[in-house]
Amino acid sequence: MSRCLADLSIDHVVLERGEVAHTWRTERWDSLRLLTPNWQSRLPGFPYSGDDPDGFRTVTEVIEFIVSYARTIAAPVQTRTTVTSVRHTEAGYLVRTDQGDWVSQAIVLASGACNIAQVPAFASHVPSSIEQLTAKNYRNPARLADGGVLVVGASASGTQIANEIQRSGRPVILSVGEHIRAPRVYRGKDLQWWMDAAGVLDERYDTVDDIVRARQVPSLQLAGTTDRSTLDLNALTEIGVKLVGRLAGITADGKAQFAGSLRNMCALSDLKIGRLLDLIDEWARNNGFDGATEAPYRLPPTRVEEAPALGRDLAKGGIKTIIWATGYRPDYSWLELPVLDSKGMVRHDGGLVSSPGVYLMGAPFLRRRKSTLIDGAADDARDLSGHLAAYLDTGRARVVA
Ligand SMILES: Cc1cc2nc3c(=O)[nH]c(=O)nc-3n(C[C@H](O)[C@H](O)[C@H](O)COP(=O)(O)OP(=O)(O)OC[C@H]3O[C@@H](n4cnc5c(N)ncnc54)[C@H](O)[C@@H]3O)c2cc1C
Repeated sequence: MSRCLADLSIDHVVLERGEVAHTWRTERWDSLRLLTPNWQSRLPGFPYSGDDPDGFRTVTEVIEFIVSYARTIAAPVQTRTTVTSVRHTEAGYLVRTDQGDWVSQAIVLASGACNIAQVPAFASHVPSSIEQLTAKNYRNPARLADGGVLVVGASASGTQIANEIQRSGRPVILSVGEHIRAPRVYRGKDLQWWMDAAGVLDERYDTVDDIVRARQVPSLQLAGTTDRSTLDLNALTEIGVKLVGRLAGITADGKAQFAGSLRNMCALSDLKIGRLLDLIDEWARNNGFDGATEAPYRLPPTRVEEAPALGRDLAKGGIKTIIWATGYRPDYSWLELPVLDSKGMVRHDGGLVSSPGVYLMGAPFLRRRKSTLIDGAADDARDLSGHLAAYLDTGRARVVA
């Protein structure tokens, strides 16, 4: 957004509470690699230029990439500046920070979609002998106590974490709710390549049937690995991870209760990936890829035990650690504008917030399916900076696309 505002000669400042790429420095586990290939992290005027377009960046490489972009575009970032409140005044938006105040005519909320790790309220019933971590503060298996680990949540974060902990020798139980399995490579090409080429990632927010639902769909079970292997539930079962249903509750005396829906959840996931592959195959057929790539095929169904466990006494059952990989949410506790819904999420229409001159970036399916990804920022920023420029020019409350 900063690059796009600069292109439009709009005076601006980027306020950052930490250093550039703060979340990548402080909120990721050590072994994480992007699940999107290198070529797919395209920022305005900054395509991938290295010699490994199909590789997956490590966290250190992501930090270098973002820092180098900020330097290249000379982004006016003021680091170590925490925004403590934003409110509307006669003079414009008053932005209070721990480094002084700013008044501005327009605001872009780009504080991230994953500030808080979501943990269910019943986590308070977990016996005190068990350590609880989230996908945000988990770092590596060596920091965990020896013994069993319950990983709750089986989307990208949960499956990646379960995989490395099981391989460290600690037996993992993975609690599986709604998820979408995905082959890393399909018909000889990366799944992200197909989704990009077939236009799946460009699908717009105003063309989907139920955007509220679409914004809540969990991340694909993908991992960026050097061997480009698929990390789905079958791969995890293969190495010994025990699958159980969604964690429905924990009783006051510390017994975990797992839903009996595991088989259904897996069947639904198989169905969803089947639909995506159908769509890709149709696009491939219509665009001359049949014959030029491997023939279509389908994944074997997800294997589920005959009678997966429905409960477990956490303390007596050998669990030493619980890792909540149950999703993230943004933190707008500092935003004193009447733009939040009852769940604390910013109400917006494709990034246009109801308060004039306020814009949102970086939220799931903000304007396109890819808005969730680094690669989505470029198109969203181009669109929204255009609105913002028009807003400043006309001073009108809302500019219609
Ligand atoms: C575990 C994980 C893995 C991911 N993997 C991928 C991937 O493989 N590929 C991909 O494309 N995307 C991935 N993403 C998504 C990716 O992180 C986002 O697309 C991208 O980071 C969004 O950037 P952002 O700048 O909007 O948000 P963030 O990166 O969250 O940045 C927000 C910034 O705002 C700052 N901030 C917050 N509140 C305040 C405040 N009050 N005052 C001042 N500053 C503040 C934060 O310090 C932070 O630096 C992943 C996300 C997570 C959580």
